[in-house]
Amino acid sequence: MNKEIPYKCTCGGELKRSRVEVEFFGIEFGLRDAEVCTRCGSEYLDQETMKEIETIVKERNIFGLERKISVTKSGNSLVIRIPPEIAEYLGIHYKSVVQLFPMDKDRLEVKVVS
Ligand SMILES: [Zn+2]
Repeated sequence: MNKEIPYKCTCGGELKRSRVEVEFFGIEFGLRDAEVCTRCGSEYLDQETMKEIETIVKERNIFGLERKISVTKSGNSLVIRIPPEIAEYLGIHYKSVVQLFPMDKDRLEVKVVS
């Protein structure tokens, strides 16, 4: 299982074969083979898995829903407006409850609760 991988991560770290839980756009793809960097933790999925993910994501037309929006302000809070087509896709309405998960310094996940 732990065969040496002849190439390295873009950060220069060593890669180790591993199995990782894969999720994209809220779609679970289960445990997949990946090469994981022992230094920065980057995960590299194999071509086959990437193709499969791309196909499913395209089928569901999720890429097409991606939008760039500006953050506005309301009182002390910042407001992120959800475009109507994304609201419709997620089933979010006025007064829906969502949960916010800061995933990283530049990533916020929004989970629809009700
Ligand atoms: Zn790395």
